[in-house]
Amino acid sequence: MGLLAQGSPLSWEDTKRHADHVRRHGILQFLHIYHAVKDRHKDVLKWGDEVEYMLVSFDHENKKVQLVLSGEDVLETLQEKGERTNPNHPTLWRPEYGSYMIEGTPGQPYGGTMSEFNTVQDNMRQRRQEATSVLGESQALCTITSFPRLGCPGFTLPEYKPNPVEGGASKSLFFPDEAINKHPRFSTLTRNIRHRRGEKVVINVPIFKDKNTPSPFVEAFADEEAAQAAQPDHIYMDAMGFGMGNCCLQVTFQACSISEARYLYDQLATICPIVMALSAASPFYRGYVSDIDCRWGVISASVDDRTREERGLEPLKTSNYRISKSRYDSIDSYLSKCGEKYNDIDLTIDKEIYEQLLKEGIDHLLAQHVAHLFIRDPLTLFEEKIHMDDANESDHFENIQSTNWQTMRFKPPPPNSDIGWRVEFRPMEVQLTDFENSAYVVFVVLLTRVILSYKLDFLIPLSKVDENMKTAQRRDAVLQGMFYFRKDICKAGGHAVVDGCGKAQSSAELAAEEYGLMSIDTIINGKEGVFPGLIPILNSYLENMEVDVDTRCSILNYLKLIKKRASGQLMTVARWMREFIANHPDYKQDSVVTDAMNYSLLVKCNQIANEQCECPELLGSAFRRRAKDDASKADSDSSK
Ligand code: GLU
Ligand code: MG
Repeated sequence: MGLLAQGSPLSWEDTKRHADHVRRHGILQFLHIYHAVKDRHKDVLKWGDEVEYMLVSFDHENKKVQLVLSGEDVLETLQEKGERTNPNHPTLWRPEYGSYMIEGTPGQPYGGTMSEFNTVQDNMRQRRQEATSVLGESQALCTITSFPRLGCPGFTLPEYKPNPVEGGASKSLFFPDEAINKHPRFSTLTRNIRHRRGEKVVINVPIFKDKNTPSPFVEAFADEEAAQAAQPDHIYMDAMGFGMGNCCLQVTFQACSISEARYLYDQLATICPIVMALSAASPFYRGYVSDIDCRWGVISASVDDRTREERGLEPLKTSNYRISKSRYDSIDSYLSKCGEKYNDIDLTIDKEIYEQLLKEGIDHLLAQHVAHLFIRDPLTLFEEKIHMDDANESDHFENIQSTNWQTMRFKPPPPNSDIGWRVEFRPMEVQLTDFENSAYVVFVVLLTRVILSYKLDFLIPLSKVDENMKTAQRRDAVLQGMFYFRKDICKAGGHAVVDGCGKAQSSAELAAEEYGLMSIDTIINGKEGVFPGLIPILNSYLENMEVDVDTRCSILNYLKLIKKRASGQLMTVARWMREFIANHPDYKQDSVVTDAMNYSLLVKCNQIANEQCECPELLGSAFRRRAKDDASKADSDSSK
C-alpha cells in the first residue's frame, strides 16, 4: 500500500513541521517528471494485478480460526526464495497493512496480446501455492476481503490484548497494535492519522437486523470515547486496522501516452461502483452481520485523518480548508478534456500549487488534480528522507500521492525509468478463488481494450458516480441497486476522444438526457432498447480478434461468471457468505458470527479456494476450472 522507506519515523508534530517542505519538493519532483516524459508516447499496453492475502490458522479441535501474525517472516521467506534468487521469478511479494497480510503480483507485467489473459489464473495459482508452501501446520492463505471476527477477543495468533494507550499506534479497544505490520511505516501511519485527526478514527457500520437482533442494537462501552462515538444500530470500530486490514484486488495499466492514461482514468472511474458491487465480498465486521456488502466506506473512515474543522464540525481556525472526503475515497475530478464538463464536485485545491503548476505549463485539469491531492499533509516521514534530489527522486511526491487512496490512481512514471503513464483501478474486493479473481481482472482489462478500440464514452457527472459508490456498498446492491449510467456510450465515436471532445454543452443540458438509472444486470448484460450491455460489447470485440481456442475458452468462462453474477444466476461472495452464516446450525438469527461459525465459514472458503469442493451457487458448475489446471492439480496439494 505504498512506499516503504527505511529509517526513523517522525512523530506527527515533527512530520507536520515538514509538511510544507514535503509538498513543495513533491511538486518540484512531479514537475521534473512531467517535463521529462509528458510527450512520451507509443508505450505499449502492459498491465498487472495485485492480490492481497490473509494468513489464517485453523484450530480444528476447538473449532476456531485465527489470523496469524507472521506476514513479515512469510514475506521474507518468499522474497528470499523468489525475486532475490531469480530476478525473473514469476511472482513478487510485498508487505501489507496487517501483520497477517501479504500482497502478491506477477513477477513481470502482462503484455498486450490476447494469450496473456490465459496466464493470469496460472500465475495466481502459483502465488497461492508458493505462499501456502511456506506456511505452518494447519495454516492457509485466504483471499477474503474482511475477516469476519476481526477485532474480536483472541482473533490473532499469537493472541494479544489490545492496549489502548496514547503512546500506542491505534489506541484501539479491539485491534491490538501487534496485528499491524511491524515495518514502522504502518504503525506510524496509524498513530499519525489519529494524532492529526485529534481523536481516534470512528467507524460505524449499520448492523443487519435479523429476527432476534436486539432493537435498538446498542453495545455498552465503559470507555467514554467509544460510548460517545458508537451509534445505535451500528457496529462500532475504532482503528485503521478495521479498514486497511481488509484485502482487495487491484489492476494497473500502462497507457501509450499521458492523454490515453487520462482518458482511461476518467472512463474507468465511472465503472468503479459497478464492478465494486459485482465483487461485493465483505458482509461481516467485528463478529456481526452488517447491512453492507463492501469494505469501501469502512476503509474510508478508518484512515480519515481530517480534523474537526476540516470535517466542518467546527469553524475554521487552525486548519486551512473544509475537506469533504477522507483520503480514501472516490475520485473528485475527471482528468480528460471530455471529462471537464462533468466535473460537478466542489474541488478543494491548494491554490498556490495550482498557480505554480499552471505557470509551468500544466493544463487546468491536471493542475487542479495535483493541487487537490496536495491539500493533504504527509502522514509519515523518515528523518533520513527529508532532503531529496528532486530531479532524480520522487519520494515526496509519492508520499502525498500514495496516501490519497482513491478509486482510481493516475500514476506518473517514476523518474529515470522506462515505465510509462499508468492508471490503477482500485475498488474491487478480493474473491475466494483464483478463477474469480482472474475473471474480474480480465473483465476490467478487456473493458479498457474496448473503451480504447471503440472509443466508448461512459462519462456522467461525477456527483452521480459518487451516488453510485454509495449505492454499490449496500446489501445486495448488485441485484437491487439502481445506478446512474450513460445511455449512449458510442456517442463519442464521431470525434477523437483522447485528445478533444465534441461541442461544449452546458451541464444542465447534458444531464437529463444523457444518463439514466439502470440495474447492474442491464449495464452488464444489456437490455433490448435500453442499453447494449458491456458483456455483449466485449463479446463482439472478441469475435473480431485473433484468439487461440484455449484462451477464448478461458475468457468466455470469465465473462460468464461476471454475466451470471450480474443477472443473479450466481451469488456474489457477500451473498454467499450471508447465506452460509444464516444456515449455520449455531446461528441464532441475532446477527452474531461466533468463533465456531467463523471457523466453519473459513474452512469452507479454504476448501473452495483449493478446489476441494464445488460451490455451484457461487462459481457455477462446469466452467470454473481450466482444462490445463486439472492436469497440474494431481501433483499439487496446496492445502494444509
Ligand atoms: N487493502 C486496501 C483495500 O482493500 C488497499 C491498500 C492498497 O492500496 O494497497 O482497498
Ligand atoms: Mg495493497
